[in-house]
Amino acid sequence: MKYTTEFRDRELVEKEARHIHEITHQTWRIMEVCGGQTHALLRYGLMDLLPEKIKLVHGPGCPVCVTPVEVLDSAIDLAENKKAILCSFGDMLKVPGSRGNLFDCRARGGDVRVVYSPLDCLSIAKQNPTREVVFLAVGFETTAPAHALAVLQAETLGIKNFSLLVSHYLVPPALRLILSNPKTQVDGFLAAGHVCTIMGAEEYRPIVDEFHVPIVITGFEPLDLMQGIRMVVEQLESETAKLQNQYTRSVVDSGNLVARQAIEKVFHSIRQSWRGLGEYEGSGLGLRSEYSQYDAWAKFGIRVHQQESTSCLAGDIMMGIKRPQDCSHFGKDCRPDHPMGAPMVSSEGACAAYFKYRVDNQSSSHPEKRV
Ligand code: SF4
Repeated sequence: MKYTTEFRDRELVEKEARHIHEITHQTWRIMEVCGGQTHALLRYGLMDLLPEKIKLVHGPGCPVCVTPVEVLDSAIDLAENKKAILCSFGDMLKVPGSRGNLFDCRARGGDVRVVYSPLDCLSIAKQNPTREVVFLAVGFETTAPAHALAVLQAETLGIKNFSLLVSHYLVPPALRLILSNPKTQVDGFLAAGHVCTIMGAEEYRPIVDEFHVPIVITGFEPLDLMQGIRMVVEQLESETAKLQNQYTRSVVDSGNLVARQAIEKVFHSIRQSWRGLGEYEGSGLGLRSEYSQYDAWAKFGIRVHQQESTSCLAGDIMMGIKRPQDCSHFGKDCRPDHPMGAPMVSSEGACAAYFKYRVDNQSSSHPEKRV
């Protein structure tokens, strides 16, 4: 398959690995920002190909992981007490809130439905004109365009019983937060290629200049990741800090202008709360006042009370301070079938990735483990 098969070529991946070994002289901590990259690194056994001096740490780019408990609690309250039809992508249903998850809510009689697109909610709203239909709109810059288009489509069709429970996050402010924290030691970043496909590359340049840190926009296949790591190491070893684009087959400087215009029209930047990390000005997106009729937070007058678990190390893991195996619950009382925190739930969560590829499948002959 074009753009996939050639980026899984074992010989090319091993050639990049040898190159990384040759050029690495110092210890470097490199953060892959996106949980999808974390899973690919573990799934294909790429971390085992790297020199010991390359320490990969896992970033905050998993939307399920950064969504605060109070968002889940609000979604559950809408389905249970406000009798709304609560629609969500499937990966949010197992994320624990303070009173169980959305599966528990459904078992208690809440009308919780899995959809494959926010546009599906518009059909549900038309079929149920006397009910309110709420979509749990969680995500980064990658999912914001589809959420924006659902709002614009609802406006065009005159659908009034549809709204979004928005919990949107922006990557660049998260990188600034990580670099400003004295506890974190990140020498370079693999930025998430799909986010940059939407937003372009340029918003990372001020971060490179201000913090003098290499950022390489990187894809998700094994060769993408090895090339991205090699490009970061080349910069670090030569004491340079540049913005580079490994994922040129998808990312252009200006991003996807149509998608960016949809985001700009419907959303504006807000102070956002990140699970385990805290609240930061300008780190999220909320609906503009012109679209407040589609804003479930405003429509239902929802007030939130932050209730974070103190035993889950999700915040430290997403800041690159700790790794999943540093958590005393990892693989014991916290497992995918009994998650204590969001990083063990999500298909992009770092804890779930370590459990799946390092604990569950110890054998290196596991079919997905090697390129
Ligand atoms: S192993 Fe579980 S409790 Fe520990 S950080 Fe990961 S999700 Fe949280």
